Amino acid sequence: MQTPRLEIKNIKRRFGDRMAVNDVSLSVMPGQVTCLLGPSGCGKSTTLRVIAGVEMQTSGQIYVDGKLICDTVFRIPPERRGIGLMFQDFALFPHLSVAQNVAFGLTGDKADNNRRVSELLERVGLSHYINAYPHELSGGEQQRVALARALAPRPKIMLMDEPFSGLDNRLRDDIRDETLSVLKEENTAVLLVTHEPDEAMRMADEIALMRGGQIVQQGAPYNIYNAPVDRAAAAFFSDINVIKGTVQGALTETPFGQFLAPGRPDGTEVDIVFRPQHVRIDFDRDGRGPHPTAAEGTPARAMVKRARFMGRESLVEFQMDHDGSIVTATVPNVFMPKPGVYLWLSVRRERCFVFPNT
Ligand code: ATP
Repeated sequence: MQTPRLEIKNIKRRFGDRMAVNDVSLSVMPGQVTCLLGPSGCGKSTTLRVIAGVEMQTSGQIYVDGKLICDTVFRIPPERRGIGLMFQDFALFPHLSVAQNVAFGLTGDKADNNRRVSELLERVGLSHYINAYPHELSGGEQQRVALARALAPRPKIMLMDEPFSGLDNRLRDDIRDETLSVLKEENTAVLLVTHEPDEAMRMADEIALMRGGQIVQQGAPYNIYNAPVDRAAAAFFSDINVIKGTVQGALTETPFGQFLAPGRPDGTEVDIVFRPQHVRIDFDRDGRGPHPTAAEGTPARAMVKRARFMGRESLVEFQMDHDGSIVTATVPNVFMPKPGVYLWLSVRRERCFVFPNT
């Protein structure tokens, strides 16, 4: 099996009586992008700072290419770890030209350095700015110079902490994609910190979802999105609908029909969670409601409360007939039923998650 480029084992970092990072382990392969994703304060940046060597862990080990670079006794200093850093508040040196900024961390001979600088500036599309100074560049261009500078010494690992959050939306998408392709070409192992699920879904080969100093779920974006470990993990990626149920004979009876709740004892209160895009809307064609199906259960009657057009999709808010609770559905393109109209809602079983009520 291939050795991970970066591996951290059981990292803990305590500040006073607070565990900012509480037993985090992960590995990143060459050319792989892993995102540490989670809400503010969950310990993402501290984990990154420990790996960079600017913060000391309370316990745990860090390995690069299988070799120990840091535990609580042995410690290779930050500048000798072969790790590149790119943070949100990156600062280019204002008195140095673009070329000098990119060459800053290079130690080789001048001809080699010049070649590397030209190659990287070409790759980030900024060759024509080689002699410009940072103040002559837009924010996005400066970001690309910062990327070139971080990549210049060919770091084996790149640590990025919200590197794109200072950019406006359109620019951010372009720079993200560009950055990703350069990092992949260089076969760099990337650990990227973000609190934005969209960014993680867009960039990551693997997402490590953090909460309260711990990784609560780790996997490919598709799996994390479609098989969340708990209600909070589901809610981190999109709005969710929640209906309540009580388990009886490994089943939960709801207005949407029965849901399987295997392994849960009778009387357990559960939350049935589903995303708005997985709600199916039907008209009542013959006055008796649509027919139940195995895949989608029993349709439940609901009244349209509000419909809004959001550009790519429409957001329709329903009030459920059975208990007045609200269920939200998103529909591609334009779907704007009038408030007060009754429709039928169902949810695909494989898109529903049953979690214990907490
Ligand atoms: P954000 O996205 O807001 O940066 P984060 O997930 O990166 O959040 P961290 O910056 O790692 O979170 O912080 C985790 C916890 O550790 C927070 O409660 C923070 O207040 C605490 N913390 C971080 N650095 C220190 C420090 N030097 N001294 C004391 N507490 C700290």
